[in-house]
Amino acid sequence: MYYILESLFYILIFLAGASIFSFLNVVIYRLPRKISFITGRSHCPSCGAELKWYDMVPVLNWFYLRGKCRTCQAPISFRYPAVECLGGVLALLCFWKFGSDVQAFAAFAFLGILAVVAFVDADTMEIPNGLVLAVAVTALASWLLGGEPAWQERLIGAVCVSVPMLLLTLAIPGAFGGGDIKLMGAAGLFLGWKLCLTATFLAIVGGGLYGIFLLAARKKGKKEHFAFGPFLCAGMAAALFWGNSLIDQYLRLCGF
Ligand SMILES: [Zn+2]
Repeated sequence: MYYILESLFYILIFLAGASIFSFLNVVIYRLPRKISFITGRSHCPSCGAELKWYDMVPVLNWFYLRGKCRTCQAPISFRYPAVECLGGVLALLCFWKFGSDVQAFAAFAFLGILAVVAFVDADTMEIPNGLVLAVAVTALASWLLGGEPAWQERLIGAVCVSVPMLLLTLAIPGAFGGGDIKLMGAAGLFLGWKLCLTATFLAIVGGGLYGIFLLAARKKGKKEHFAFGPFLCAGMAAALFWGNSLIDQYLRLCGF
């Protein structure tokens, strides 16, 4: 009986995360198009049919409709259920890492904003200032609610990556986008300097591998750019959950 209740509890956490990310799908679509994401019901982008409440059941609905609009049969991107699944998994990870502490909600809010940043940046090569501000506000809330790290580590976090990125970009124009620099300033306030550096290291490894892949596949010339924001966001998510144990293992490897 206990195991049934426990499984039900985890399913509920997954569904809560998936439902919130279902709303973030709307934000990702509407934000670059400057459509309000608070008012107005969701429409099919092809035929304009309004979605019914039962079309909003995360993940399962997409499979039920076989990835097509109910009215016009236009294909619905696999990205929608994928983002919803991501939300469910991140909610479970937040519970695993922070338990039922209020910091679990702060971490989930942080990751939700990062998900929007990652997809908007991938779509448009831009990170809106509003999202950077939202990251900073979440960091402030996490600190006011008594979360780790201490304010000194947060302040160092705000500059330890963003300032070197800015200096590098002043020396080599176009090295990083302004949005990436501002994002790492705000996110450093949430993560503190240790996790901020770890996240950046992971992002550079991930982005570097992707760059090599693009060159090998000859998809882009050497001078073209790809959005780095998604790699920074993925690096920050990984650092949030596993950064401290990564740092411990690294220090042990170095003999500390
Ligand atoms: Zn349609």
